[in-house]
Amino acid sequence: MTRADPRREELAANLATVRERIATACRAAGRSPDDVTLTVVTKFFPADDVRLLAGLGVRHVGENRHQEAQAKAADCADLDLTWHFIGGLQSNKAAAVAGYASVVESVDRERLLRPLSRGAAEHGRVVDVLVQVDLDPSGGGPGRAGILPQQAPALAAHVAATEGLRLRGVMAVAPLGADPVPAFRRLADVAAEVRALEPAASWISAGMSGDLEAAVESGATHVRIGSAVLGSRPTGR
Ligand SMILES: *Cc1c(COP(=O)(O)O)cnc(C)c1O
Repeated sequence: MTRADPRREELAANLATVRERIATACRAAGRSPDDVTLTVVTKFFPADDVRLLAGLGVRHVGENRHQEAQAKAADCADLDLTWHFIGGLQSNKAAAVAGYASVVESVDRERLLRPLSRGAAEHGRVVDVLVQVDLDPSGGGPGRAGILPQQAPALAAHVAATEGLRLRGVMAVAPLGADPVPAFRRLADVAAEVRALEPAASWISAGMSGDLEAAVESGATHVRIGSAVLGSRPTGR
């Protein structure tokens, strides 16, 4: 990697823009930029990009598919990175995800807790867990990810009571094609209920490339940014 690597320059410029957007949104909301953690979503992009991002100061990376995430995490094992698993999780993969992910943001059913706990024990780690909430007002359909808002506190209580898992808060994706503001406000309400169960569960992971400002305004502590840093993905993932 020479200093003139054009991909490095591109990622550096995109990162600067995203960090400025976060800082501006924080200022507008009267919050400190230090209160918002940037997780760069590297799905579909190669481990070389992850390596460049680490060199540019990125510490948190997100992936949504187990096989791809596992391979990249192994490839980048020498880097000081925290891996966030943010995708749909199958219970037969959950234990393996705990092998590389310090944070699992997409826990949306009780059935995942036992294998995650077992994986955490096998790998000698405590896994930070976010409960994924479905913010679609229609209540979600087939293929939707996340638990209904009214069911989130009960699932969170199960997480808090599970060995090897640390309840950290909630995560959500804004509903497709709708105003994200009311959705993120609803998420903030759910987050407050979860925090009442466990004071350390103060994380709110919300906001992607297109809606990070609305998320920060509603109290997001973590934003998950893919295309605004890495460019557009080959397909609509
Ligand atoms: C892909 C993805 C993101 C990043 O989306 P961008 O619009 O590319 O920033 C964030 N969160 C989840 C759950 C994702 O799957």
